[in-house]
Amino acid sequence: MRTLALIAGLTLTLTGVTSCAVNPVTGQRQFTLISEAQEIEIGRDADRDITRSLGVYDDDELQAYVQALGERMARDSERPDLPWTFRVLDDPVVNAFALPGGYIYVTRGILAHFSSEAELAGVLGHEIGHVTARHGVTRVSRAQIAQLGLGLGTVLVPQLEGIGGELAGAGLGLLFLSYSRDDERQADDLGLNYMTAEGYDPREMAATFEMLYSASGAEDGERIPGWLSSHPDPLERRDRILARVDAGEVSGDRVEREAYLQRLDGMVFGPNPREGFFRDDVFYHPDLAFRMNFPAGWNRLNQREGVQAVHPDEDALLLLTLASESTPGAARDAFLSQENVTGSNLRTTAVNGLDAAWADFRAVTQDGVLRGTVAFVRHDGRIYRLLGYAVEGQWSARSSALRSSIESFRPLTEARFLDVQPRQIELVRTDRTHTLTSFNEHHPSTVSSQVIATINRIRSGDTIPSGTLMKRVVGGQLPD
Ligand SMILES: [Zn+2]
Repeated sequence: MRTLALIAGLTLTLTGVTSCAVNPVTGQRQFTLISEAQEIEIGRDADRDITRSLGVYDDDELQAYVQALGERMARDSERPDLPWTFRVLDDPVVNAFALPGGYIYVTRGILAHFSSEAELAGVLGHEIGHVTARHGVTRVSRAQIAQLGLGLGTVLVPQLEGIGGELAGAGLGLLFLSYSRDDERQADDLGLNYMTAEGYDPREMAATFEMLYSASGAEDGERIPGWLSSHPDPLERRDRILARVDAGEVSGDRVEREAYLQRLDGMVFGPNPREGFFRDDVFYHPDLAFRMNFPAGWNRLNQREGVQAVHPDEDALLLLTLASESTPGAARDAFLSQENVTGSNLRTTAVNGLDAAWADFRAVTQDGVLRGTVAFVRHDGRIYRLLGYAVEGQWSARSSALRSSIESFRPLTEARFLDVQPRQIELVRTDRTHTLTSFNEHHPSTVSSQVIATINRIRSGDTIPSGTLMKRVVGGQLPD
């Protein structure tokens, strides 16, 4: 939640015109609701939301590098004239995805896991394949894109269990399209063609699947790579690629291991604590300079759009986000103007010296009545929305925990929290032969040896020759 950006929602204007277009890859005629111009417009609109809500990684050189590599492959594809745009997102999750119209994203998380330019080329090629074969567009057609009005900005989510998914998906769930297995195979095949057309070694793409497979079992707060969770079995795909290589259908020998690794030196690794972290029951946000206590034992989720805590019984929720209004009072008015929301006990009690506008409220939803308290608090030119609510029957049991959390919001002043820095990748060249264990002893990291093995593509039992350029991870320790 570095920016706590609220997704305004994708407003897609569909004229409703249907057309039958020729698929650029298969040459077959394809029924679609969307023209190429509309496809590009969808991508451009969604790109704006994605860059705002997920954030672009702050490294111009790295951005230009990924753009140049992707563009080289895309210009030789079946759709050279799309406005091909490649971005590195500031997200620790291992992921890559494509939007209609030629917008392609890799996270800093997936870049940290690659060990060569050929691996990056393989994943970019796969995503280019989804675009050239118009997989997203056909799916969007089916899903009736008019329904893509995504609403994280809408204030109250009726079902408690719906909130986790809504926040976790950053409201972009529909954009992380889950394609069919056939689509995935076709994208793999196209990606292999695109990467080998530039001379890259297709076996590196097979290695990527193996690496992602082991990354999915990694600990250390790493989440399951999104790129895998929505895709067919990675080892089966690896074997399919190797079979094509063995059959002589694709070939190439360009790997660019060291040149690629050099680009990762100093890159942020894992979650960035500057964007907020928990220490026991306290949430600290160094960049936005605030702290707040959360109820003990509740299940928490820290996302760029906000922080939430859900009672284990899933009958109450606390949500911290930003409001878009310019004063606490205006934000409260907007909140209470929602349909089926009735406010009471309006007050302007300051929160630890900060201007605030409070209300209690009752909300009638499809699934029952909710009761809650909301405070809009001004801090450093931003308006924070601190929202606590419960199902009506549990309100009396939960309200004091929710209120005391909201009242604990305060400016962060302790230097040791304000100065927290993220973990970073540091490159080291080995000066002797190592096992994974001895490498970790000589070049310690602040992540587990399993993570070091995965990001360096090392299997247990491998020896690391002297003179090998290796990634380790340093820094990022949180204060006590
Ligand atoms: Zn895919």
